[in-house]
Amino acid sequence: MNCKDFQHWLSTRDAFTDKENPEAMSHLKGCESCESLYKIDTGLEKSIKSAFHQQEIPRDLYDQIELTLDHAKNPIMLTKLRLTGLAAFLSLIIVTAYMIFFDTPFRYQNLQQLGEKAVFVHLKGNTTMSFNDNKIEQAVVMLSKELKFNVILPYLKDQGYNLLGGRLCALGKCKAAYLFFEKKKKLCSLFIMDYDHLGFEMADGSRFSNIIKGCPTDIWKEKGQVYAMVH
Ligand SMILES: [Zn+2]
Repeated sequence: MNCKDFQHWLSTRDAFTDKENPEAMSHLKGCESCESLYKIDTGLEKSIKSAFHQQEIPRDLYDQIELTLDHAKNPIMLTKLRLTGLAAFLSLIIVTAYMIFFDTPFRYQNLQQLGEKAVFVHLKGNTTMSFNDNKIEQAVVMLSKELKFNVILPYLKDQGYNLLGGRLCALGKCKAAYLFFEKKKKLCSLFIMDYDHLGFEMADGSRFSNIIKGCPTDIWKEKGQVYAMVH
């Protein structure tokens, strides 16, 4: 496998359901740049998976799983084979729930609602990063793949923002890119989402500033994407 094939494999794989590819793994061992892409992508997948697990899974899904487990507890001679089948079935339910959860586009009804979610994630203070600023170019490629739109980073350096790194996060029910900046020794959070997640019109270049729970928050739209910066 060469770099091109590897990158094609990486951009189409779904780490959640796909098995490891031995050819890709052996290419990794000898290729530093592909290895670094792979690490970023795996880190991003991990961050979104853990963000998902922190969200409430729909209550009836829990009930269904419990019901199935209650059946399993009945001493009606469950063979090992059946248990394996059950485990596979349960993981299928979870994967499907995950897909429904993130593939049905959730839409914000107003910018206040979006701002509050952004502040909520910011105040949680989880600064885990899947990549650092020195890998930002590769990270943007991988973020675009995961989020299914071409992520464009705004140029903020001349406003005194220094990029530290980032990961993926769940912004309410939307997947978003989460970037960490430092400005005047303060950690700021920038969230980038597809415009699709707004349930109303917003013109390119328009901006909304507010203070939410004591955090100055700016939301703006540029080049078809929505940015929310929390200070
Ligand atoms: Zn390579």
